[in-house]
Amino acid sequence: MKFDNTYDKLPAEFFSEAAPNKFTSPKLLKFNKGLAKELNLSLESESEESLADIFSGQKILEGSHPIAMVYAAHQFGNFVPRLGDGRAMLLGEILDLKGKRVDVQLKGAGPTEYSRNGDGFSALGPVIREYIVSEAMHHLGVPTTRALAAVATRDDVYREIVQPGGVFTRVAASHIRIGTFQYFGAKRDVKGLETLLDYSINRHYPEIQSAIKESDGSLSSAVLFLRKVIIAQVSLVTKWMSLGFIHGVMNTDNMTVSGETIDYGPCAFMDTFKSDQVYSYIDRNGRYSYENQRAIVAWNLSRLADCLIPLVDPNQDKAIELLNAELKATNDLFIDEWQRRMAEKLGLTITPATKSEDMALIVLWLELLEKEKLDFTLSFRTLPDLLEANVDQQNSLFNPTSDFNKFELMWKERLKNEPLGIAAIKEKMNSLNPLYIPRNHQVEKAIQGAIKGDLTVFNEMNQVLSNPYAHQPDLDFYKQAPLPNEEIEATFCGT
Ligand code: AMP
Ligand code: MG
Repeated sequence: MKFDNTYDKLPAEFFSEAAPNKFTSPKLLKFNKGLAKELNLSLESESEESLADIFSGQKILEGSHPIAMVYAAHQFGNFVPRLGDGRAMLLGEILDLKGKRVDVQLKGAGPTEYSRNGDGFSALGPVIREYIVSEAMHHLGVPTTRALAAVATRDDVYREIVQPGGVFTRVAASHIRIGTFQYFGAKRDVKGLETLLDYSINRHYPEIQSAIKESDGSLSSAVLFLRKVIIAQVSLVTKWMSLGFIHGVMNTDNMTVSGETIDYGPCAFMDTFKSDQVYSYIDRNGRYSYENQRAIVAWNLSRLADCLIPLVDPNQDKAIELLNAELKATNDLFIDEWQRRMAEKLGLTITPATKSEDMALIVLWLELLEKEKLDFTLSFRTLPDLLEANVDQQNSLFNPTSDFNKFELMWKERLKNEPLGIAAIKEKMNSLNPLYIPRNHQVEKAIQGAIKGDLTVFNEMNQVLSNPYAHQPDLDFYKQAPLPNEEIEATFCGT
């Protein structure tokens, strides 16, 4: 593993030194060999014991420099000026096979400067959960942090009950959050903000530098940066929604400027469609419900814009005006992107001529799912069955209600205007509508198994979810929605 660190070269106020805790006898539960290959890690010859030591912080490899990053955040709307990595440590950065720089971070390896009242550890449950769900997200085509390793520490952590501990190794394009900007913004540290903006542009959006050069200084890099983050986050959250994903804790420290999904605490994929669905136990008011994710992404982006004001123009009114112009575009961009994704899932390509008709069709379909309490994922996936010559009415998810018949008629009529033939439309729909998602009741079984030392469900889920759009007869069982007694009503961060 060849480290090439840059964040630790930033001024001292950006991070604190960190040192992983000593664990009794860490045990490797999973190492992501495919990802290791993409990252060019050359760890093939390491034993499981050695990998367990590396990915629990017992062995610090040459070039690794463990640090904890500082950030602030709005947590459920309340501003906290100093949070930071309280149970995470950046081991360092590496360049992947394509030359892309990524962070390698341990989660749950012990306390840091920013642990406040926490212990810096993680229970095994959240480790298993993040491993399964973040890898599933990647294979579903969603920008996300990745899972490199899961280790059981074999030491206890103390939560409501005593639980086995774990360490998770996360790989990310970076760990720069909206909250990182807020940390410097709240301190009115313009120099710190400038340094962070330059670093972020250089790492994630280097094309901004050439645009600035070509504009002879008439464009502002902070404004262009905001525009990039808006596009990345709108693309991300519409993608989540198209898959029925509820992040659950969209605090500003959990939104990266790279546009990758981060923090798999209380997240969940919906089974039955419900537009105001909330799972997170701590989200009492539904701030981060399924449908509210649209409003929240815009709100979070406004918090980023707040921080950028001093970097845009010495004239504050002018700076605000320029940033507001970007923010104003967020909602329309979101609606366009959401419509495009939803239409695609129904086999439709939106054009200006079909836009209003398609929107009506999408709304009708979603209302139908909600009213009939249908499974979001399986409804989209089995919809193309209606295009078969011999429709199997008996095994169909859909009841032939008048609303459903109306939708079916409109949809089939609309498909006639599509340039693709039926077979190609079906194929396209199947490439966008997964058969397998990490369903909460299954994730829970994987966690309970792992706690008892049985990794069967964990391994099977990782396997089936590595190819979520293809039918896998041996593991087809994982497509099933929960039975009423298996339904999980609330998720816990379980930190
Ligand atoms: P999260 O809910 O995962 O977004 O975390 C919010 C903040 O709490 C971050 O600053 C975390 O580092 C911190 N935190 C969460 N769990 C722990 C823990 N067990 N020990 C120390 N800090 C923690
Ligand atoms: Mg977090």
